[in-house]
Amino acid sequence: MKITKDKVVAIQFELSDPSGEILDDGGEGDEWYLMMGVGEAPPGLEKALEGKQVGDSFKVTLPPADAYGEREEQLVQKLPKTDLGEDVEIAVGDQLEAEADGSWELVTVVAVDEDTVTIDGNHELAGKTLVFDVKVVEVRDPTDEELQHGHAHGPHSHEDEDWDEWDEEDDDFDEDEEEEKA
Ligand code: ZN
Repeated sequence: MKITKDKVVAIQFELSDPSGEILDDGGEGDEWYLMMGVGEAPPGLEKALEGKQVGDSFKVTLPPADAYGEREEQLVQKLPKTDLGEDVEIAVGDQLEAEADGSWELVTVVAVDEDTVTIDGNHELAGKTLVFDVKVVEVRDPTDEELQHGHAHGPHSHEDEDWDEWDEEDDDFDEDEEEEKA
């Protein structure tokens, strides 16, 4: 089965910068499940995956525009500490969820002083040229549930994800999953 825009793909990968420094070893034996055509993978990686099949390996170098985009300095913001709530311990490097334009974005704390916290809403890989060393390990059609959610489910599904919006539906989700296994 060849990879097209409507497939779910599992890859093993290693991510490095052009100098060869490893940014993410992908986790030994860990697969990254991604749904094509929905922006789960950076655009350049999706493009490189198209037409490939299980067993194919390739290496692709992606400039920022084909990876996680250029850095946008307006996404760096200084906030009064009190905006984050009383008695919250904040340290440089912490990642927080912040609401922006009605959706939740992950932001990184880049500076903390007595009264203010500086957060950076850029993806941590924004502005970087990335080298993906990829092996395709699975290609399949998405399940109904994946289509409904608009993203791929790996073997662990939502168990490793702590998205608040799924809390209420966790019970239902687990039941569905057990039915599938039975
Ligand atoms: Zn889902």
